[in-house]
Amino acid sequence: MNEIEKLISGKTLTHDEYVKLINRYEDENIRETLMVRARQLRGMHYGNKVYIRGLIEFTNYCRNGCFYCGINSSCKTAKRYRLTKDEILECCMSGYDLGFRTFVLQGGEDPYFTDDILVDIISKIKEDYPDCAVTLSIGERSYESYKRLKGAGADRYLLRHEAANGEYYKMLHPDNMSLENRKQCLFHLKELGFQVGAGFMVGTPGQTVEHLADDLEFLKELEPHMIGIGPFIPHHDTVFGNESAGSVSLTLYLLAILRILFPKVLLPATTALGTAALDGRERGMLAGANVVMPNLSPLSHRKDYALYDNKISTGDEAAECIDGLRKSMEKIGYKVVVDRGDYTG
Ligand code: SAM
Repeated sequence: MNEIEKLISGKTLTHDEYVKLINRYEDENIRETLMVRARQLRGMHYGNKVYIRGLIEFTNYCRNGCFYCGINSSCKTAKRYRLTKDEILECCMSGYDLGFRTFVLQGGEDPYFTDDILVDIISKIKEDYPDCAVTLSIGERSYESYKRLKGAGADRYLLRHEAANGEYYKMLHPDNMSLENRKQCLFHLKELGFQVGAGFMVGTPGQTVEHLADDLEFLKELEPHMIGIGPFIPHHDTVFGNESAGSVSLTLYLLAILRILFPKVLLPATTALGTAALDGRERGMLAGANVVMPNLSPLSHRKDYALYDNKISTGDEAAECIDGLRKSMEKIGYKVVVDRGDYTG
């Protein structure tokens, strides 16, 4: 049995088999075979439903210096902002009216947002919208902190592991950041009962197929409920400012592999994919994705959450353009639904 047959039949692959599998991504027939299988599995578990999440980028202050990220602490050109509790609640209100039943609070690692402040915000959202899920994406925190956030009602947590290979992780991050801690956080979040999302960028400088194989193996070990992947896109004011962007077709190929490896996983067609290709979200769906995360942040700050250059911020990815998204999904046979869209493993 070769690696493709093994993948399709649901067997676990060895590291070398993952490497071979990924290396075959330029073969159109193989790509098509995997996409068809990915769509089949998506259909079996989620039908033609597309779950939407309202993304609220509530702070772009960050204490970390990740080399790839446009809001990292050394970026002098970033125009810093943080939303007030009332502004966050206004985003939720408009999102609820537009049909969102999950709010994703994402931000840099901003020490201003202490546990007390976050608990207050999360509790209020859950009080006002008891039928909605709250997802947090605010980086590495202590076990105790995660416990308090869970106690306040947070349902899910997105924390991409970024790179599962220790050596490579160091090429993307300054010395004061550690892969061990990031992985530990993911296991803590799982232990506390969060629905957990991990993931990585495709095509960061120096990334090899071996590194990607390590990512797939780590995800197998973690068994997350959500997986976020998207192409790396350079930001001019970072160490990687002059590097090339990651490949859209490799990202799509990896999405299909992830759907096959994790048939029930919640898999977004990410904003980065939608930025790298105009039809990125639709192609992501056709590769097995089942989630889209339109932007609900206030228009006045949207362009300041610039993780990379030319990040889409007022086009079809915007929450206000939900009708456009509904239509574009209908065109390819999918249906945006009003639903919390929980993991049903
Ligand atoms: N601070 C939180 C954390 O560390 O998880 C959440 C915010 S962080 C900016 C969200 C994600 O954006 C990161 O996990 C990273 O994978 C992605 N990202 C950052 N810079 C990027 C870039 N230049 N291209 C594509 N994605 C990027």
